[in-house]
Amino acid sequence: MSRKSEPGAAEFLPKASTLPKLRAAATGCRGCELFQSATQTVFGVGPTHAQIMFVGEQPGHKEDLQGLPFVGPAGRIFDRALQESGIERATTYVTNAVKHFKWEPRGKKRIHKRPTNYEVAACRPWLDAELRAVQPRALMCLGATAAQALLGKAFRVTHERGRAVESALAPVVMATIHPSALLRAPTAEDRAREYALFVEDLRALLRAVSKQR
Ligand code: URA
Ligand code: SF4
Repeated sequence: MSRKSEPGAAEFLPKASTLPKLRAAATGCRGCELFQSATQTVFGVGPTHAQIMFVGEQPGHKEDLQGLPFVGPAGRIFDRALQESGIERATTYVTNAVKHFKWEPRGKKRIHKRPTNYEVAACRPWLDAELRAVQPRALMCLGATAAQALLGKAFRVTHERGRAVESALAPVVMATIHPSALLRAPTAEDRAREYALFVEDLRALLRAVSKQR
């Protein structure tokens, strides 16, 4: 029987949907053009039944080379904020809305380029499969790309950050800014303030999860 071919990642999904099977299958995804200029698929990482799942945008330069999410500069500040908020990263599931690094050359560097709606939609079957496999108690969208992919185009992170929103995706669903925004804030004061707000959102997530028990 021939499988119906849809645009995007759907036709690359394996029948068995355990995380190891999904991760293995995702290495061969050709669901959009992004695989062509990236080193490898960067799938989510974390225990199967993690209570908390984080969704970023897409891998960056370092993530693309190492094959792991949030291991570059944004990952370092994310790690620090997690630690400060009392969330142990190893107990969480960390992934991205898009699994391949999209970039453009600037000199010898590869500069991050925001994925299009089409690319986010093409990659969505992987994220949905991760959500089904992990079934997190709490889902935190990191930045507008993840938040709008999962909560709708009208969602405004700046207005609704750190507050639980109604969603069928998980018992607790929240969004906050992307950790890389913490690095881009113009002055040291801005960076310190943004970082403190980010940690506060993580603490709000943790409080909301505890209330669920
Ligand atoms: N930014 C993201 O959104 N995800 C990563 O994995 C790294 C940087
Ligand atoms: Fe497949 Fe997503 Fe990579 Fe596109 S970005 S090729 S849909 S894994």
